Amino acid sequence: MTLKILLNGARGRMGRAIQRAAESVGHEITAALDMGDAPERVIDGCDVAIDFSFHDATVALARAAGASGTPLVIGTTGHNSEEKEAIREALAPVPAVWAGNFSIGINLLYYLTEKTARILGLDYNPEVLEMHHRHKKDAPSGTAEGLVRVLRQAYGLAEENVAHGRHGLTGERPRQEIGVHAMRGGDVIGDHTVYFAGEGERLELTHRASDRSVFALGALRAATWVRQQAPGIYDMQDVLQLRDTP
Ligand code: NAD
Repeated sequence: MTLKILLNGARGRMGRAIQRAAESVGHEITAALDMGDAPERVIDGCDVAIDFSFHDATVALARAAGASGTPLVIGTTGHNSEEKEAIREALAPVPAVWAGNFSIGINLLYYLTEKTARILGLDYNPEVLEMHHRHKKDAPSGTAEGLVRVLRQAYGLAEENVAHGRHGLTGERPRQEIGVHAMRGGDVIGDHTVYFAGEGERLELTHRASDRSVFALGALRAATWVRQQAPGIYDMQDVLQLRDTP
């Protein structure tokens, strides 16, 4: 099905990746917006809007989407709590997919991590390792933090149980601990491994991103899916039907 797409943040790295991906699967970018453009002027007639811009731009787009009845896909990250609340309120009349990572592989990694943690329990010590390019400014990555959240929930552990790296005389590893470690270097787009290290064996779940197109193709998959949904805010676990699978 060909979609007519409003794209916000069109000149950015992800905006360009989405334009390439949309062209490759036959969708049409009918409105390519960036800083200074007003979405409400062009949103009518679009099947769906996609936002990969900046945190302070999403509220205006969500209001335009809500007012015009246009489904919205939000990939932008870094919203503060007031922005999140305003976005949720504006989107009440329409369906939307809002996800911090649109990679299909990463969303499957979340799912497998949750299942593995519940099956193995804390006899298998969980540790998360991520590696990104040398330009990345924050650590650990948002995705590693997401994996730690999934693990904490599965084991019922608190933020205090998370060890961000280790150095010096740390003593023995406590049983109720999740380690998280960040490596930086070169042009690595994003590697994440979750270790479950037991006595006599170790399970490693690894995802490696080698191209930004994975996020773009995931967002386009969400854009096709969201048009068939009732009003509500969904994420990629819903798009991939990973939510209630046994
Ligand atoms: P980028 O800096 O390359 O591009 C951002 C674009 O947004 C720029 O062209 C900028 O001019 C534009 N912009 C800034 N303010 C705007 C405004 N008020 N209105 C419209 N456009 C505006 O960044 P990027 O790497 O393309 O990432 C964009 C966003 O997507 C970031 O928040 C990033 O964290 C997020 N991201 C999400 C995923 C995911 O899978 N969810 C993946 C990659 C990046």
